[in-house]
Amino acid sequence: MHEHSLIANLLSRIDAVAREHSATRVVGVSVWIGALAHISASHFREHFEDGSRGSLAQGARLDIEVSDDPEHPQAQDILLRSVEVG
Ligand SMILES: [Zn+2]
Repeated sequence: MHEHSLIANLLSRIDAVAREHSATRVVGVSVWIGALAHISASHFREHFEDGSRGSLAQGARLDIEVSDDPEHPQAQDILLRSVEVG
């Protein structure tokens, strides 16, 4: 469940950014996945595609970096690095 709450949280933050900018769609999203979040880039992509269906973020380009550093202070998190809106 952990990964699912991380992804749900991320999607709601992306949605908030898009609304702040009165965007009609989200063009690109850049995320950083901590080593202890236990989610691969491809698995994240699947969840993102599922979770964003019907939202402004549907079809957004994804840039994903998966960290291999378990000592990172946010190793259990998924960080939203940037959101590009259109
Ligand atoms: Zn999953």
